Amino acid sequence: MKEGNGYLPIFFDLRGARALVVGAGAVAARKIDALLAGGASVTVAARELSPAVERRAARGELRAVAGEYRAGLMEGMDLVFAASSDRALNGRVSREARRRRIPVNAADSPADCTFILPAVVRGEEFTAAVSTGGRNPGAARALREFLEAHRQEIAVRMERGRRRPRISGRKGKVYIVGAGPGDPDLLTVRALGLLRSADAVVHDYLVPPEILSLAPRKAATICFARRGRTSGHGAALKQAAIHETMARLAREGKSVVRLKSGDPLVFGRGGEEAEYLSREGVPFEIVPGITAASGCAAAANLPLTRRGISSSVTLLAGHEAGETGEGAADWKRLPTDGTLSIYMGVGRVEEIARELLAAGFSAETDFAIVENGTRPGQRVLRGCLRDLPRVAAQSGIRSPAVLFVGRTAAPLPGASAAWPDETEVTA
Ligand code: SAH
Repeated sequence: MKEGNGYLPIFFDLRGARALVVGAGAVAARKIDALLAGGASVTVAARELSPAVERRAARGELRAVAGEYRAGLMEGMDLVFAASSDRALNGRVSREARRRRIPVNAADSPADCTFILPAVVRGEEFTAAVSTGGRNPGAARALREFLEAHRQEIAVRMERGRRRPRISGRKGKVYIVGAGPGDPDLLTVRALGLLRSADAVVHDYLVPPEILSLAPRKAATICFARRGRTSGHGAALKQAAIHETMARLAREGKSVVRLKSGDPLVFGRGGEEAEYLSREGVPFEIVPGITAASGCAAAANLPLTRRGISSSVTLLAGHEAGETGEGAADWKRLPTDGTLSIYMGVGRVEEIARELLAAGFSAETDFAIVENGTRPGQRVLRGCLRDLPRVAAQSGIRSPAVLFVGRTAAPLPGASAAWPDETEVTA
């Protein structure tokens, strides 16, 4: 083979190819293994066959020819490997192959090769080949080692480059999907795909129209709950109606997206709905979403946990006045050194502040209220527990909002100071 860089790297399909290997030593054994693994039909010719080759021949995995090499063995071959320990013999085999225009590889003799074998790294879904054209096998090995050491990173890049199959919902199935806190950009890829292929969408009042508009125009869109209108018995009736509607639509053969704000399993009754569908034998899948606490925390630059400041985050429901008639949380059992994320508490802020103080939270504890987090009209109000009722009353906080309590709720250094002077209002 010529010096220089005149190689065309190709991956040769071995399935069904006929390959002749001359030699049966260690070098030949490696070629034989690779050829058989690739599905080639292999003939081994050697003065003396090794026990391994004989065993394989006996099992019918390859054809073995013992004795002096004869040119006739090349008849009908697609590839030839001159892999004996006899350099002169390898040279003869190479010349004969080239005369017949059969690609040939001669061990340790680049000049006798019309093709060479690169160093190979095999990953789960890829094969990388490295070659220095036989001139610097040490460098090729070092490159291969580099690739092997970076398998993980290669896997990540493979994933990035993978063409994702189009996501679409199955007929007759209910997808309980989290829509995130409101910004359509915060939907998951799976949520978007399912929504775009939905035949019916059953959603809550908190899911904004921009997200609903992603469903096909012809999809039936059904909204249950209206803001704070149902409580007690009414809520149970409504929930039963939602269950029945989902099951009916799925049984009609529709792909049903049950769309909930945030994450379906955080104050979203996703668990009850899954349980109902499971009991009724209706196929379903839960697709997570970004819960309001995460979305609002990000919107307010508020770390939910932070080394040395907050080692826990608690999601709890403050409940709207009239919704259940009482706060569900046992405030005394909450960690005072973590972050509390209180959902649905807007109407009860004053009581919540009182209860937290009674439970041992210091009046200096920071709070942040994020109203309409990630949505148009987002507001962030900050202060300390002592001021919480006044801030909430004066600023007219409306649902939806999350109330964060804890040292993590303080503004980041360099950001605006506490309320009331520097209320952050973001459009
Ligand atoms: N499953 C939802 C929560 C539904 S309960 C989730 O995981 O986020 C409804 C409560 O969520 C609201 O009362 C409010 O406290 C909170 N919430 C939902 N979206 C919000 C938003 N964009 N901004 C602030 N709070 C929000």
